[in-house]
Amino acid sequence: MSASPKHIVIIGGGVYGAKFAEHIISQAASIPVQFTVDLIEKRDKFVYLPTALRNCVVDVTGDCVKSYDNLFSGPDRPGKGQLIRGVAVRIDEDQRVVLLENGAKIPYDVLIIATGQKWDTPLAPRNENVAEYFSSVRANVAKSKKIIILGAGSVGCELACEIKDRYGKEKRVILVQKDRLPMSAHYSERFRAKLAHIMDQLGVETKFGYKGVANTDGTVSLFKDGEPAELVQADLVYESSRYNPNSSFVPEQWINAKTGAIKVLDTFEVEAATTPVFAVGDVNSFPEVKLALHINGNTLPVLTDNVKSVLQGKQVDKIYKTKLDAIALMLGYSKATGVIKTGTFGDIVLPGWLVKRMKGQDMGGSKVDLVLGIA
Ligand SMILES: Cc1cc2nc3c(=O)[nH]c(=O)nc-3n(C[C@H](O)[C@H](O)[C@H](O)COP(=O)(O)OP(=O)(O)OC[C@H]3O[C@@H](n4cnc5c(N)ncnc54)[C@H](O)[C@@H]3O)c2cc1C
Repeated sequence: MSASPKHIVIIGGGVYGAKFAEHIISQAASIPVQFTVDLIEKRDKFVYLPTALRNCVVDVTGDCVKSYDNLFSGPDRPGKGQLIRGVAVRIDEDQRVVLLENGAKIPYDVLIIATGQKWDTPLAPRNENVAEYFSSVRANVAKSKKIIILGAGSVGCELACEIKDRYGKEKRVILVQKDRLPMSAHYSERFRAKLAHIMDQLGVETKFGYKGVANTDGTVSLFKDGEPAELVQADLVYESSRYNPNSSFVPEQWINAKTGAIKVLDTFEVEAATTPVFAVGDVNSFPEVKLALHINGNTLPVLTDNVKSVLQGKQVDKIYKTKLDAIALMLGYSKATGVIKTGTFGDIVLPGWLVKRMKGQDMGGSKVDLVLGIA
């Protein structure tokens, strides 16, 4: 009698979890061990975050909110995997199970954690009716005349430009950032200055060099050099949050106490786990700018080979290295910029036309089905 199939369990059906589920199933014929895949996801639909940002302003729901229906139903995937709707609340390594909020216990032989990070509004859809959520965000933007965004990282900058590009003079958008330029010092001054210039062209008002604190009455207090400087009224305040991984359900000893990230080796194995557990994507501690593009760089082959090794009782030995340190920003429909970090030759700032061509005028939305293998 053949051995019963091994259980691969993935927590989180975002870019990393959903893509890995599709990919490992597509590899089944080349893996000499029977296995099944359970994908645990708390939301009713897949959300592609890069395009979801535009969906906060213009209705592009079809490009960024996707059904999971086709993920396991392709002709090459019968009976290989299933989506389990639920919230993972605990991992019990002694019993090798993932516990869900509804009391269910999902047994695993190999566990992959891909729960991403928590985003504050407007990018934090509830678990049900994701599409409806974005519709209410758009309605809020539409009725607000003055919008303050706290934090000029990639999300804050793209959101500010998206709103100005769509609404022009109809709305004031004020972007607040503690540093004197947008983005972080990871990027060159030249790139950051170019980005600031584009935002200026679009009419985004900037308060660089200020720390903004959102008050409960809807106002924002601005501080300069630690001293109160201004109190600003707003119709809408968005906090473009700091890194905040979704890791609260894993054993405490797995987590970096400072960042909240799950500590991994460069094989993606969770450092302190005693069973085969991997963590990929935004939730892990691997030191790189957290981006969806890494899944199609080295992440997928390294994770797949290492999971295959576990299934076959072999040594896990594939090592991950960041393949490309780059960022591409769509600043509304009309403008774009980006940068590739080369190390030796410094930062290469990309012209807008090239970024638009690489990322697509639709922020990659039309390629999501293809990338996920759910087309
Ligand atoms: C506005 C914005 C723009 C971006 N633009 C780009 C870009 O242009 N290019 C690029 O490469 N990257 C971009 N990124 C980054 C990219 O989107 C992330 O790196 C990527 O989505 C991370 O994938 P993930 O699978 O780790 O997490 P996510 O995509 O966030 O998926 C995590 C999934 O886990 C689920 N989940 C969480 N906790 C639980 C739980 N306890 N139980 C069950 N399910 C759970 C969530 O519901 C979610 O579906 C952008 C991000 C944002 C926010």
